Amino acid sequence: MATAAYLGVEGGITHAILSSCFRGDDSVELLGGFGSFRDVAVALTTGKVRYGIFPIDNAISGTFHNGYDLIAQYSLRPLREIVWRMDYRLLGVQGATLSGLRRIIAYPFVLEACGKFLATLSAVRVSPATETGTAARAVADGNDPTIGVIASPAAADRYGLVELAARISDTPHDFTRYLLVEGPAVEDRPRTSDRPRRTSILFQLRHERGALLECLQPLVSAGVSISKIESRARMEKPLELGFYMDIDADAAEPRCARALEAMRAQTIDLRVLGSYDYEPLAAPRETKPAESGTEPEPAPASERPSQVSKNWPRAARDRKPEGTRVRVEGVEIGGEDFVVIAGPCSVESRDQAVSTAKFVREHGAALLRGGAFKPRTSPYAFQGLGWEGVDMLAEAGRVSGLPVVSEVMSVDQVERMEQAVDMLQIGARNMQNFDLLKAVGRARKPVLLKRGLSATLDELLAAAEYILSSGNPDVVLCERGIRTFETATRNTLDLSAVPVLRERTHLPIIVDPSHGVGVRRWIPPLMRAAKAVGAHGIIVEVHPNPAEAKSDADQALRFAQFAEVMRDLQAVPAFRKRVDSTPPR
Ligand code: PEP
Ligand code: MN
Repeated sequence: MATAAYLGVEGGITHAILSSCFRGDDSVELLGGFGSFRDVAVALTTGKVRYGIFPIDNAISGTFHNGYDLIAQYSLRPLREIVWRMDYRLLGVQGATLSGLRRIIAYPFVLEACGKFLATLSAVRVSPATETGTAARAVADGNDPTIGVIASPAAADRYGLVELAARISDTPHDFTRYLLVEGPAVEDRPRTSDRPRRTSILFQLRHERGALLECLQPLVSAGVSISKIESRARMEKPLELGFYMDIDADAAEPRCARALEAMRAQTIDLRVLGSYDYEPLAAPRETKPAESGTEPEPAPASERPSQVSKNWPRAARDRKPEGTRVRVEGVEIGGEDFVVIAGPCSVESRDQAVSTAKFVREHGAALLRGGAFKPRTSPYAFQGLGWEGVDMLAEAGRVSGLPVVSEVMSVDQVERMEQAVDMLQIGARNMQNFDLLKAVGRARKPVLLKRGLSATLDELLAAAEYILSSGNPDVVLCERGIRTFETATRNTLDLSAVPVLRERTHLPIIVDPSHGVGVRRWIPPLMRAAKAVGAHGIIVEVHPNPAEAKSDADQALRFAQFAEVMRDLQAVPAFRKRVDSTPPR
């Protein structure tokens, strides 16, 4: 059994890279516990291990001279180049919060890569770690919520840490180039791949005018491309310059071998570290428009920031890649049709509920909304008609033939509400009322879960997870605007939540532009935007006489406005459907 050496413990960066490199290869076993790259080099030289990896370049910090130097000093033999996307997360123990952290531990090079993010945390001290996996394990063992660690999602998984911040690297293009190497004594084997080859070279020149240009000329004449060259001042020999260079050719190719010999003649010393396979960086791919009726293509795993979140495994898209369709009586949310839910903010009278129900039904709504228990900011504002209102709504539903959705505000309302309506709404202010989430999770009616006023998408998904994990698989998420510094609109409708949620979760997503902007005339454009951005539907407030509405009067659409926007909506292609697809019912 061949062995491959990684630094520290499982969950570290070198462990992750080697695991990926040798995945499915039973002939290689990973061996940890190495304290430094030099220790790995020694183990390779003495034959204690067969493979190791050495970093040679990083997008933020540049060349790792030590990587090249160790390969040279120990005559290690490069086999292939690995370009690894650095995916740093700030992790803590269960219960830790970003604002509660006082110390963050990370490998020095990682601290440097996340410098901009760390500068925003004034109350936090940073301490260097010897290795990333070891630091993650120590933080988990210490169980101190004031200490965080910067590590990979793999470390979070392995040590049960929670993610406090993602994508904290200074640049999203933070890649590191590593070389997978063997020890010097390993026998030459015939190459089995036909990948392109690269060669790394160290050389020294006299510090003289024109020396570099002249020395590189043979490569240029031979048509060999130089993919990297970096000088390093030699303090001990000020009259010499050292260079680290990579060329895109195999040193054994005759034209390359001749060029290198000609170069050598002009240098003080030239050392070929070896030739190895590499993956040429692909030009950016052209993105194809989504096929009709298909779900969006999931992002590459490394670009899905919270996909691995332990907080919502049941809600994660991976759990059900084809997407969930929630049936509310005969209406399917999450399927082909763009579903419009409409009705008054509050049920105010039998007439109001019935006339609104009939009107919205005639103009294409598929579900009727109406609140009977109202979460109002002021205790003196209209609180809803309670059970009487629920009965009126149910009647309006029967008369119009529309299934109905209404809000439950407390655990003790769930059982009775479940008998009366077709879908249970959890309001924004109750998104993290965990007992209520568990109660509707035990109910047998689908749930419309609204995003909290200041809830992140991660928190919304974790709230949905409460319902799913309590046994109810039928959850529809609703973006209804969040609190920002903007005061021109009631809230800020976060339409970007839609594509992000569609990528992260299989649950259907609808948009509530009424509570999002709070102003009647701005609602129709946002209804159209919600359809275009890929939502599965919308929920909108409509009132026969908005001026007299007992709640949310400013945002209730008049009947005529509703009729007009429903016509306009037909012209908007749903993102998931072809332009000529059937309009919403
Ligand atoms: C509502 O839908 O009437 C409501 C109160 O919404 P939210 O919970 O989003 O404020
Ligand atoms: Mn309302």
